[in-house]
Amino acid sequence: MAESLAGAQTALDYIRNRMEKARRRFGAPPEAVELVAVSKTFPAAAIEPFLLAGQRVFGENRVQEAKEKWPGLRAKYPDIALHLIGPLQTNKAREAVELFDVIESVDRDKLAGILAREMARQGRSLPCFVQVNIGGEAQKAGIAVSEAVDFVRRCRAEHGLDIVGLMCIPPDGQPPGPYFAHLAQLGREAEVPRLSMGMSGDFETAIAMGATSVRVGSALFGRRTTPA
Ligand SMILES: *Cc1c(COP(=O)(O)O)cnc(C)c1O
Repeated sequence: MAESLAGAQTALDYIRNRMEKARRRFGAPPEAVELVAVSKTFPAAAIEPFLLAGQRVFGENRVQEAKEKWPGLRAKYPDIALHLIGPLQTNKAREAVELFDVIESVDRDKLAGILAREMARQGRSLPCFVQVNIGGEAQKAGIAVSEAVDFVRRCRAEHGLDIVGLMCIPPDGQPPGPYFAHLAQLGREAEVPRLSMGMSGDFETAIAMGATSVRVGSALFGRRTTPA
């Protein structure tokens, strides 16, 4: 465990250092950029060194997987914040509200309504992000760009959700900068304070464009050997 703790500490220091340098490139820097350590596909034993090294914010993309891994870790580390970063089916909303602290993938009215109902039922008001399909890709989750601002308004006014920001995953194989800039623009129009954008390959660009959270998986945990 000591060796893996040193490894986790080194990986975290390296990423945080790069984040700080990128933050200085952004004109009006936010206070700090949050690092969401994306632990999907990695077992609890691989996550624990990161907890020992002080990391407290994690991202998972599947409800079922989070349910298997996180209750045990949470019992030992009660101050963690677990973000759901993957698509959510309405029939999993109840479990998602039980297991997660932040939902980053709100992208349609039906889901927003059911999440709001579950939060009220469980007495847990979770901060949420609206996921935007920033590249307009048919296969990707997220609300359409043209509907995003209106959807944020509806989530707040009609569903009563606490929408704190926007989230996106830009298209593969294209420079991500313009997509991040577009999300930042939508964030200003929708009047949300936070932007969750940037992954292992592009988090510095995202921070330079105003990201307030980056979601970093493989650059911390190593290459995923099982499909996410
Ligand atoms: C897997 C995943 C990440 C992390 O990806 P890496 O390239 O491993 O950093 C970030 N965001 C979402 C939504 C993901 O599914």
